[in-house]
Amino acid sequence: MGAARADIAILGGGLAGGLVALALARHRPEISVMVVERGAVLGGNHVWSFFSSDLPQGGEDLIAPLVEAEWSGYDVCFPGYARTLATDYRATTSHRLDARLRQTLPAAMIRTGAEVVSCTPTTARLGTGEDIHAGAIIDARGISSYPSMTGGWQKFLGQRLKLAQPHGLSRPIVMDATVDQIDGYRFVYCLPFAPDEIFVEDTYYSDGPDLDRDLLAGRVADYAAAKGWRTQDILAEEYGVLPVVAGGDFDRLRAVAGHDAALAGTRAGLFHPLTSYSLPDALRFALALAAQPDLGADTLRNFAEHYARSHWNGSWYYRKLSALLFAAAKPDQRYRVMQRFYSLNPRLIERFYAGQSTWADQFRILAGVPPVPVHAALGVLTGLGARPRPLGQ
Ligand SMILES: Cc1cc2nc3c(=O)[nH]c(=O)nc-3n(C[C@H](O)[C@H](O)[C@H](O)COP(=O)(O)OP(=O)(O)OC[C@H]3O[C@@H](n4cnc5c(N)ncnc54)[C@H](O)[C@@H]3O)c2cc1C
Repeated sequence: MGAARADIAILGGGLAGGLVALALARHRPEISVMVVERGAVLGGNHVWSFFSSDLPQGGEDLIAPLVEAEWSGYDVCFPGYARTLATDYRATTSHRLDARLRQTLPAAMIRTGAEVVSCTPTTARLGTGEDIHAGAIIDARGISSYPSMTGGWQKFLGQRLKLAQPHGLSRPIVMDATVDQIDGYRFVYCLPFAPDEIFVEDTYYSDGPDLDRDLLAGRVADYAAAKGWRTQDILAEEYGVLPVVAGGDFDRLRAVAGHDAALAGTRAGLFHPLTSYSLPDALRFALALAAQPDLGADTLRNFAEHYARSHWNGSWYYRKLSALLFAAAKPDQRYRVMQRFYSLNPRLIERFYAGQSTWADQFRILAGVPPVPVHAALGVLTGLGARPRPLGQ
């Protein structure tokens, strides 16, 4: 069996791997980059959204070709009030990531349908027995187990609906929590892609990871019907079960993810502990990696390890908030935490989603009358009270 070669081989052509490849192509055109993906297409089947305020400096140009829709502002609705926020919201799609990567990299450097079975800092072995040799390997194969971690789950099913008439929305509803509070904190998320096309996602912050596809699809249909939207066709569907991390041990996460190659994306723990969203971190990481003067295997592995550890240490506050949500608030009262949060200053909300809360923000989010019992909140914050559950596999 022959061996393919590249200066950098990225294992996993998902969001993080794709962004690293695009950042290297843009900022280090002298480097040859290969992407190795087990799926038939790059990026899978996703809508990845973000706030414009999440973007790091230099991120705008890189992400722009992936953006399928953008809106000026968004709405949130809670039992207590509704609010429109002015922050721009954008949606990228995996088919745009796939197209952009194919436009940017030579065809021979995109290997789809290629399952990686093992890797070292400079080689990857495929299921076919073929070896890939690289100056450095970046492992961005995603994450599927969360050893030592505690918290809960964010699970959702979304459908892109073609409607018989216009839906009448001009901007997204990022949280509509006026729906029945079932299985923890429940809200519906709506992205109006076209006047008669809307993505509707039924979402839960739950204690358990079980997701009943048919039940959630039924609730998406009920929500659309209650809004007076008549569905003509379901154009696409996606679902996810993502960890909401309240605590854990970074070294054990690393041990499962593998120490050999430089890690990127969720595999490196680069996601927001409370929203489980990873696009802002993936973009920041891709730009930082492409700016490294030395892209050799040892240097890149050390850089990635240091980056991920700093991210983990720097996100302790969001893990505390996850713990408050899951251990201090009763499941059917969790919405009150988000209801209060969304009443705060819009700049604070932006910094929260970008994972850049200041000390003053951190104080403000917790100050005042907490929407959870005071004794339960103190117990969680001091570590002496109820503890979030282990996430396991
Ligand atoms: C349905 C869904 C919607 C989401 N929406 C958002 C959102 O709106 N905004 C946001 O910021 N985050 C969102 N997330 C969360 C998170 O950002 C995504 O999961 C994101 O795709 C994670 O990026 P990643 O690159 O780490 O992993 P992935 O994008 O999952 O990429 C990993 C890639 O590695 C490949 N792979 C795995 N094993 C192998 C192997 N052995 N050999 C070769 N290839 C392999 C996979 O096929 C996959 O393509 C969403 C998650 C889901 C599941």
